Amino acid sequence: MGNETDLGEMDNIWGQAREELQKIVGTDSFATWIEPLRLTGVDEGTATIACPTRFLSDWVSRHYSDDILKVLDRLNGPVHRVSFETRSQTSRQVAAANSEPKRPAPRAAVDEELTAPLDHRFTFDNFIVGKPNELAHAAARRVAEGGPVTFNPLFLYGGVGLGKTHLMHAIAREIQIRQPEAKVLYLSAEQFMYRFVQALRDRTVMDFKELFRTVSVLMVDDVQFIAGKDSTQEEFFHTFNTLVDQGKQIIISADRAPGEIKDMEDRIKSRLQCGLVVDLHPTDYELRLGILQSKTDSFRVQYPGLQLAPGVLEFLAHRITSNVRVLEGALQRLFAFASLMGREITLDMTQECLADILRANDRKVSIEEIQRKVAEHYNIRLSDMIGPKRVRTVARPRQIAMYLSKQMTSRSLPEIGRRFGGRDHTTIMHGVRKIEELRTADRSLAEDIDLLRRLLEA
Ligand code: ADP
Ligand code: MG
Repeated sequence: MGNETDLGEMDNIWGQAREELQKIVGTDSFATWIEPLRLTGVDEGTATIACPTRFLSDWVSRHYSDDILKVLDRLNGPVHRVSFETRSQTSRQVAAANSEPKRPAPRAAVDEELTAPLDHRFTFDNFIVGKPNELAHAAARRVAEGGPVTFNPLFLYGGVGLGKTHLMHAIAREIQIRQPEAKVLYLSAEQFMYRFVQALRDRTVMDFKELFRTVSVLMVDDVQFIAGKDSTQEEFFHTFNTLVDQGKQIIISADRAPGEIKDMEDRIKSRLQCGLVVDLHPTDYELRLGILQSKTDSFRVQYPGLQLAPGVLEFLAHRITSNVRVLEGALQRLFAFASLMGREITLDMTQECLADILRANDRKVSIEEIQRKVAEHYNIRLSDMIGPKRVRTVARPRQIAMYLSKQMTSRSLPEIGRRFGGRDHTTIMHGVRKIEELRTADRSLAEDIDLLRRLLEA
């Protein structure tokens, strides 16, 4: 087996391991600690995990190595040991971008450990803008441009997986590019707390304070994490005030509005509110489709030659509405699966491969509802949906109903067949294909279908 295949295989195993780890450690901790890691090899029972910084490997090995071991052992056993290696190059890059030119060496080393690694995929270029996130995006852009500090802090909030961390990284990167001398400190609130607790333990609180107070831009992700953690909140509040007083830019993210964070002191809430507060709304269909198209373009590089049947992305954009992370995960799995099987990505394969995700996102539209709406729309009788008539004015709407049933429910072809007057599954398949074909050529049909779908989803 060549090297490349090994790496591909490691990515594959790690992909599965990540899904399980996310369930074990929860979404927030996962994003902070596990997401930046990569599995680089398994050799004689020892799994090697690459970490972008020493800080990260330190924490992960202390808190998550048992979980990682357990999961890898199950997926790719036997694994008895996990070893963490630091990709020093990556962290050096970050440190270099963050530290001022003539700083003494020891300080630079501390910086390297303080700043969380930036994900190179999280750039403004890769961020798809739509109605639900345009305000947040515009505010992020403005802050990233530098200039005078006009809103301080910038407070971004929104549900899980809607792009907060992505925007935060994009801002950090952009500022580093525009102002290489600026000291940008980006970290999650959990990391802030960890560093603070560590400083308390090591009796280096003064260093900790000084360090945080010398940054030009402070970015704290998922600030809701420190709610209820009294001494960390207190320290955060003082750091925050000092920096605001010095006119330094602060950027905060959270999963909810400042006023809605429970167990957060009122004076902190009100300070968090005094800049610009913008939220990322849940995605809409257009935004999801845009994101899928853009991700597909990058997957095509990773999996050259893979064919994608028309309608698959639209199907996913309609059916997976929870959040962008889930949407991306689904697409990733689909491409990996298709490439393993060496097959084109079809609607059927998508439904098979993503059955669990689709079920979880099910909107529960019934076939009966679809038949009723379509019949109404085309002014035919509901009984004609299941009846035998073959005239086009009846047969076409019936096929559209079949197509929508396939797209909007998780029913199998035989099940759909039974509800269309006991038709064979091949008849349903034929109907679905026919509409897929026509959709691309016939504009008004495509619009009809979109309209019907919206009506059914409402
Ligand atoms: P949050 O921090 O809000 O939980 P993330 O920023 O981690 O969410 O986003 C989850 C995933 O979705 C990331 O991989 C991110 O790149 C992607 N994502 C979210 N919004 C967008 C968008 N508008 N365009 C492109 N990718 C996005
Ligand atoms: Mg996040």
